[in-house]
Amino acid sequence: MYLFDADSVVVSTAVELLRVHQPASAEDPSCGGCGEPAPCAVATNAMQIRSAANLAAGFGEP
Ligand SMILES: [Zn+2]
Repeated sequence: MYLFDADSVVVSTAVELLRVHQPASAEDPSCGGCGEPAPCAVATNAMQIRSAANLAAGFGEP
């Protein structure tokens, strides 16, 4: 039983969002995707989805 299939579009979308929503630079900690202080809400949600998928993968195929 798991929340997200690692191959699902939900997870691939989350990974893509996470790639875009990163701090702009070390000097500018605002999100490069939306300008909110990083980690922004989008990145936070995406990280939670990704970690749930990673957890599911750990209990899946060997
Ligand atoms: Zn963002």
